[in-house]
Amino acid sequence: MFDTLSDRLGGVFDRLRGRGALKEQDVRDAMREVRIALLEADVALPVVRRFIDSVTEAAVGHAVLRSVTPGQQVVKIVNDALVEMLGGEETPSLDLNAAPPVVIMMVGLQGSGKTTSTAKLAKLLKEKQGKKVLMASLDVNRPGAQEQLRVLGEQVSVSTLPIVEGQLPVDIATRALQSAKLQAIDVLLLDTAGRLHVDQGLMDEMKAVAAISKPRETLLVVDSLTGQDAVNVAQSFAGQVDLTGVILTRMDGDARGGAALSMRAVTGKPIKFAGIGEKMDAIEPFHPGRVASRILGMGDVVSIVEKAAAAIEQEDAERMAERMAKGQFDMNDLRQQLRQMQKMGGLGALAGMMPGMKKAKAAMQQSGMDDKVLLRMDAIIGSMTPKERTKPDLLNAKRKIRIANGSGVQVQDVNKLLKMHQEMERAMKQIKKMGGLKGLGALFG
Ligand code: GDP
Repeated sequence: MFDTLSDRLGGVFDRLRGRGALKEQDVRDAMREVRIALLEADVALPVVRRFIDSVTEAAVGHAVLRSVTPGQQVVKIVNDALVEMLGGEETPSLDLNAAPPVVIMMVGLQGSGKTTSTAKLAKLLKEKQGKKVLMASLDVNRPGAQEQLRVLGEQVSVSTLPIVEGQLPVDIATRALQSAKLQAIDVLLLDTAGRLHVDQGLMDEMKAVAAISKPRETLLVVDSLTGQDAVNVAQSFAGQVDLTGVILTRMDGDARGGAALSMRAVTGKPIKFAGIGEKMDAIEPFHPGRVASRILGMGDVVSIVEKAAAAIEQEDAERMAERMAKGQFDMNDLRQQLRQMQKMGGLGALAGMMPGMKKAKAAMQQSGMDDKVLLRMDAIIGSMTPKERTKPDLLNAKRKIRIANGSGVQVQDVNKLLKMHQEMERAMKQIKKMGGLKGLGALFG
């Protein structure tokens, strides 16, 4: 799947040259191609804009790690942004935390793969989670729809509600609930009727069924092959019922990928499963990371950059320890420390990490320091010249005003940072006097 997008992006990154930090012009050139590729992949325009903006911002000035090329570095940045757009690293799961029978209502247009996905999900819940499952088709519009679910039920060995001709959807749902209770069913899957287009009758019926069955999950099934249409459908459904997630079908045949990319951004709902074929086990939890690297077709590159980053972090830590032992601590060191803090989860994560850090954290918070402050301090250091960073003593009033303007803060914020640096520098000198890192323990605890 996603062949075109992956091919396009591949060509773009080869063109990036140069070392050191990623240059604005290079990034902009690359992003122009990424933009076209995404639009061709049928990603919604506002989503493309937002994506390009965030990636450009992340990439310009981003250091290119030793041992990787600028192209590889950009791939990693684009990859991370794609993962984010597809819903983040975490794989969403079904929420079944309610008194049984837990109801899952399946909604979607006709032909989206709703009935097939209902049976696939039933099989998954039964086999992977050991649930006792019952399925019921509420589709009284399409001839043979109820019979189709019965046949699929037989295939996956999951029971279906006996068909009673002429019953209305709400009545079928009521009967299904009663039957589920009697049989001590864990999960009841309701396959609602589809329509060819989104219409009010369909929405009203869905709402009525939801009102009596109180679904824990309402999953919208959409056909990823329909691209932007799928996104529009999702948007209309999301406006009418409380969707809890999306199932994207026909991901096995999707050459464009636009639907997956836009879906999360447009509906705000997680994609929970991907349908990847006609067979009853052709469904899998939606993995943003996996899908992103498939889109890029560059999973290897991503892991190379991750490994390089880990190696360099190790080097940085060693360099830092060496400088500390010599009592050296300039703005570059401070910045590195701030970034490390952010990476480790900001101030909130600090407390548990080192003895004595609880006190330090409390003091920082008392002086009004929060995670935004970390970013602001980083920006202030970013506005200094390289010379100022190594020799903070150079910072006179005039330079401070320039730096404050450059980073969008007040001069007093610059002063606060300098004071903090001075204190940390003094602490480093102290450590040196006490015999290097071995003396560090005395500072904490
Ligand atoms: P419904 O009208 O929404 O209930 O759609 P169906 O469940 O009847 O599915 C319509 C057709 O799409 C059937 O032939 C399914 O086998 C097929 N289908 C459903 N999901 C997938 C999928 O993930 N991949 C592929 N290749 N075909 C699918």
